[in-house]
Amino acid sequence: MNPISYAYGTNHFTRDVLLQDVLRHFWPAYPEHESELVRFGAYVGREVYETVYHVDHDAPPILIHHDLDGRRIDRVRLSPAHRQVLQELAAINRPPYEGGSWHHHFSFGYLIGDPGLYCILTITNQVAYAIHKYAPEFSAWKDALLSGQAFGATWMTESQGGSDLGANRTTARRDGSVWRLTGDKYFASGAGLTDYAITTARPEGAPAGPKGLALFLLPRLNRDGELNFHVRRLKDKSATRAVPSGEAELMDSEAYLIGEARLGIYYTLENLTVSRLANAIGAMGIAQKALLEVLGRVTRRTSFGRLLQDHPLIRRDLADFHVRQAGGLALTFQAIDAFDHAWSDRPPYTPAYHHARFLTHLVKTRTADHAAHLTALAMELFGGLGFLEEYGVARWHREALITPIWEGPSNIQALDFLETVLKQKAHERFLETVVVPLEGVGQAEARQAAKAAQAALEQLAALPKEQAEWHAKHTLRLIADAAQAAALYRLAETAGERYEKFAQLYIRHFIQHEEYPDWVLSDPEVWGVGLDAARSDS
Ligand SMILES: Cc1cc2nc3c(=O)[nH]c(=O)nc-3n(C[C@H](O)[C@H](O)[C@H](O)COP(=O)(O)OP(=O)(O)OC[C@H]3O[C@@H](n4cnc5c(N)ncnc54)[C@H](O)[C@@H]3O)c2cc1C
Repeated sequence: MNPISYAYGTNHFTRDVLLQDVLRHFWPAYPEHESELVRFGAYVGREVYETVYHVDHDAPPILIHHDLDGRRIDRVRLSPAHRQVLQELAAINRPPYEGGSWHHHFSFGYLIGDPGLYCILTITNQVAYAIHKYAPEFSAWKDALLSGQAFGATWMTESQGGSDLGANRTTARRDGSVWRLTGDKYFASGAGLTDYAITTARPEGAPAGPKGLALFLLPRLNRDGELNFHVRRLKDKSATRAVPSGEAELMDSEAYLIGEARLGIYYTLENLTVSRLANAIGAMGIAQKALLEVLGRVTRRTSFGRLLQDHPLIRRDLADFHVRQAGGLALTFQAIDAFDHAWSDRPPYTPAYHHARFLTHLVKTRTADHAAHLTALAMELFGGLGFLEEYGVARWHREALITPIWEGPSNIQALDFLETVLKQKAHERFLETVVVPLEGVGQAEARQAAKAAQAALEQLAALPKEQAEWHAKHTLRLIADAAQAAALYRLAETAGERYEKFAQLYIRHFIQHEEYPDWVLSDPEVWGVGLDAARSDS
C-alpha cells in the first residue's frame, strides 16, 4: 500500500493533534484510554486502511442466493480480510453498555473513518441500543451483537420514501407471541450480513403517518430456523462498498415488538440520533484521512522550485483544512458529550435530550459539508494523481459524498431542527449554554457571531410555518457555524491559543464571509498542523 498512499502505515491517532486536544477537553476519562487509542491508531493506519481500500477496489461483498443443495440462504460472501477486521472491531460498540461512555465509542468510529465499515458497526450498535433500552428480554441477542458473533441492521426506508417515514407501507399483524411483517425495505444496509435487524412497520388498525409506526426486531431466521426474509439484490453503489446495501422483502416475517407500539416513531428517531452522531464523527474521520494524504503530498512534491507546503496558496488551503477540521471535530464531540449525559432519557424526554438532538442536527449537516469540500480539495491538491483511482486519495471523496445523504439529507435535518425549535423550544437552552458564553468571550468576532445566531434563531421561531421552512436550512448552517466557533473558544481554555485563532478564523470565513486574513501565512500554528510528523515520515 505504501506506493499508493502516504497515510498508510502511520499512526492515525498520534498524528492527529486536534483529536487529542478535543478528547482531552470533552472526555473526562480520556487519560485512562490514551494508550489504547495509540494502539488503535496504529491498527487503523495499517490493517484497516489497507483492507478498506482492498474491499472497495477488489473485493466488495457478493450476495449468494442459494447454497449447494439449492436452499435459499441470501448471505453475502466477504473477503477474509474484511471479515477479520470486522471481528476485531466488534468491541468498539461495547463501552456505553458496560459503564463506559459514548466518547469512547465515537473516538474509535472517527479513527476508522471508512463509512462502509463504520456503517456495519453502527447499525449493529443501533440494534444493541434498541435492545438495551427498550427490549431487554432480548439481551442474549445484544450480547451476540456486541461480541462480534452477530451483525445488526436498521431498515426504515421504503421505495416510496426515506425521508417521509410516515409513508411506510410495511404492515404488522399479531400472531400469538410474534408479529408478522409484510413489506419491502428498499435501502437495507447490512442485507445478507445481518442476523437481527430493527425495522418499522404499521400494526393493523394503527393510524396513518409516522405516529402509527411501531419498531420491531426482525431476526434473519425464524423460530424453525428458516430464512425469515429475502434479500432481493445488492445495490451498485459509488462508495461505501464495505457495507452490503440491498433490498429486503418481508413476507409474513416473524418479528418482535420493541417497547410499546405507540412509541415506535420516538424509538426510531432516538435511534437515528445515534447514527447521525456516527455520521458526523465519520464525516470528520473521512476528511482527516484525506488530510493525512495531503500532508504527505505537500511535504514531498515541488513545483516552481519550492515544496508545495511553502507556497502561500497551499498554506491557505491547509489553513482551511485545519479550521474546518477543528471546528467540526470540536462541535461533534460537544454533541457527543451532550448525548452521553442524556441518553438514558425516554419519551417524552427532558430538555437535556432535546439539546443533544438539537446539536446533532447541527453537526450532521455541517460536518458532511466539510467532508465533501475537504475531500475534493484533497484531490485537487494532489493534481492529476488525485483523480486516479489507483491511488489512495480519490476514494475519500467518493466516500464523503454519502455523508450528506443517508441518515437524512440537509433539508430533513433542517426540518427536524425546526421542529426542535418550534415544538421543544430547544433553542432556548442553546442560547443559554452556547450563545451567551460566546458573547462573553469578549472578542469582536465572537460578539458578532453570537448576535447573528441569536437574531437568526429568534427570527426563525417567530415565522409562519412555510416561511420558517424556507429559512430553516440557512439558519441551521449559520447556527452550526456559530456553535463551532463557540466550541473552539471553549477548547482554547484547555488546549491553548491556537484554538482561539481557529475560532476567529472560523467566524471570519463562515459567518462574515470574508477570506482568511493573510497574517495566517506567517503562523505555522494555524496552517502547519501535522506537517512535522508528515515530514519525518517522508
Ligand atoms: C448507501 C446507502 C445506504 C442506505 N442504507 C439504509 C439503511 O440501512 N436503512 C435505511 O432505512 N435507509 C438506508 N438508506 C436510505 C437513506 O437513508 C435515504 O436514501 C435517505 O434518508 C433519503 O431518502 P430517499 O432516498 O427516499 O429520498 P427522498 O425522501 O425522496 O428525498 C429526496 C430529496 O428531497 C428532499 N426532501 C424530502 N422531503 C422533503 C421536504 N419535506 N422538504 C424539503 N426537502 C425534502 C430530501 O432532503 C432529498 O434531498 C441508504 C441510502 C444509501 C444511499
